[in-house]
Amino acid sequence: LLLSVQITPLAGDETGAAVIVLNNITELRRLESIRQEFIANVSHELKTPLASIKAYTETLIGGALHDEQHAMQFLQRIEEQADRLNALIQDMLSLARIESAEQSFELTSIVVGEAVAACLNDYAPQALSRGIELAVDSLEPHAEVLADAEGLRVILGNLVDNAIKYTPQGGNVTVAWRITEQNQVLLTVADTGIGIPKDELPRVFERFHRVDKARSRELGGTGLGLSIVKHLTQSFGGSVAVESKVDGGTTFSVALPRP
Ligand code: ADP
Repeated sequence: LLLSVQITPLAGDETGAAVIVLNNITELRRLESIRQEFIANVSHELKTPLASIKAYTETLIGGALHDEQHAMQFLQRIEEQADRLNALIQDMLSLARIESAEQSFELTSIVVGEAVAACLNDYAPQALSRGIELAVDSLEPHAEVLADAEGLRVILGNLVDNAIKYTPQGGNVTVAWRITEQNQVLLTVADTGIGIPKDELPRVFERFHRVDKARSRELGGTGLGLSIVKHLTQSFGGSVAVESKVDGGTTFSVALPRP
C-alpha cells in the first residue's frame, strides 16, 4: 500500500488542529509503471527494425549497391523491416483507438456463421500455403452476437491468424461456436499446433508478450494481437480465455453477449 500524506493546519484555529488527507496512490503508481514499461517496449520494438534498415542501407551505400545479387537481398530485407514497422504502428494505433473509444462502438446483431465464413475465406490462401486445414463446427448456424462488425472481424482474424502461424504443416484449425447457459455465444478457435507452456498462459494477453520472440517476429507478429483481441472483447461486454497443451494445441474461447 502506498499512501500520500497531506497535512493542512485548520485556518484560524489556535489549538494547532490540522486536517490530514491520506490518499491511496498504489493504483496510480502501478499505472505509471505499466505506462513506463509500455514506452520502453515500444521504443525497443521500433528501434530493432530501424537499426536493421540503417545497417543494410549503410552497406548498400558503402558499395554493395554494385553487387547486384547482394543488393537485391539487402533491399528485400529493408522491405521486410519496413513492413514490420508498418504492422507495429497499425497495431499500436488500433490498441490506442480501442482504449480511448471503448464506449463508442456501434453494437449490432451479427450472424456468427457469416462472420466466421468471411474470416475463413480471407485466411484460406494462407492456410493452404502452410498445409493447414480450416474447418467450421457448429450446430447453431443462425446464432447471433451483439458486437461491432469490424471489431469482430479483427478478433476472429487475429485468432485464426495465430492458429495458422503457430501450427505446423498438416495441422488443423477449427472454429466452433455454441450458445451457453449464460445466454452468451461461446466462440472457439482451436488448433493442433505447438501449444503454449502453462506458466506463459496468463501472460499471452499482455502487450508485446511472446512465448518465443524470434519465432513470432519471423512469422510477422507484433506481439499486440492478443491484447487487441482482449480489449475488443471486453468492450463488447464479453471475455476471452485460453487453454493449451505444449505440442498438443491451443484453444482460444471468446464469450460474447447475444442481442
Ligand atoms: P504475435 O504477433 O507475436 O503473434 P499475439 O499477441 O497475437 O502476438 O500473441 C502473443 C503470443 O502468444 C505469441 O507470440 C505466441 O507466442 C503466443 N500464441 C498466440 N496464439 C498462439 C497459438 N494459437 N498457439 C501457440 N502460441 C500462440
